Amino acid sequence: MSMIQFENVTKTYGDGTTAVDGLSFEVKAGETLTLVGPSGCGKTTTMKMINALIPATEGTISIDGVSIDDCDTIELRRSIGYVVQEIGLLDHMTVAENIGIVPDLLGWDDDRIENRVDELLELIELPLESGKQYPSELSGGQRQRVGVARALAANPQVLLMDEPFGALDPITRDSLQDEFLEIQSELDVTIVFVTHDIDEALKMGDKVAVMRNGDIVQCDTPKTILSDP
Ligand code: ADP
Ligand code: ADP
Repeated sequence: MSMIQFENVTKTYGDGTTAVDGLSFEVKAGETLTLVGPSGCGKTTTMKMINALIPATEGTISIDGVSIDDCDTIELRRSIGYVVQEIGLLDHMTVAENIGIVPDLLGWDDDRIENRVDELLELIELPLESGKQYPSELSGGQRQRVGVARALAANPQVLLMDEPFGALDPITRDSLQDEFLEIQSELDVTIVFVTHDIDEALKMGDKVAVMRNGDIVQCDTPKTILSDP
């Protein structure tokens, strides 16, 4: 069953730049696809189209078998978690409030939100007391973990991660990668993970799609790519 499907998708921006050019791929339910390639090859544009933040110029994008043209955009975005490099936690809100933003928007009652926040703090291995802290009191790595927890809060079907660990020092990045791989096995979510770092792509993906100039030039398992001369 394919959770995300691109069929011949092209995106040309208003200034004439074609950022994505005839792109086709699918991500099966529960799978992690990493998109890897140099800056400017169209990774972020691809992510923004999955989330319906920008429309495709041509082609069809389907989520869980439904064309996003036929989806309610607000509902679609709520079923998709998005983690970016500069995580954008709200500084005037506590960690718990930040994690609870989407459940709150969805009208969950307070007890349910509180339970979910505690569950997620445990998942990202922060002490429950951290829920009362403010983002400025956390380290960069902890803030990035909170960003992941916030994206997962309402049990999204799809998790988009755009250079999620890109702003961290190499040691913190490495440990967050390892932690995330552990969490992943407990989650029932389909992931697209963007990076320009081939080592990270091979480590994090069930499948790795190599992008150049707005299209995928190779898509395989890490094992196959590593054995390819
Ligand atoms: P990546 O994430 O791989 O760095 P992007 O998707 O951000 O690539 O960008 C792909 C191409 O589209 C680049 O040439 C970039 O300059 C261009 N681009 C991105 N966003 C816009 C925009 N809003 N308007 C015009 N061109 C854009
Ligand atoms: P990334 O670091 O993800 O590759 P960029 O630095 O390419 O992102 O772009 C940052 C922001 O600027 C994005 O929102 C992108 O859409 C926009 N952008 C990038 N290139 C252009 C461009 N040539 N014209 C207009 N906007 C652009």
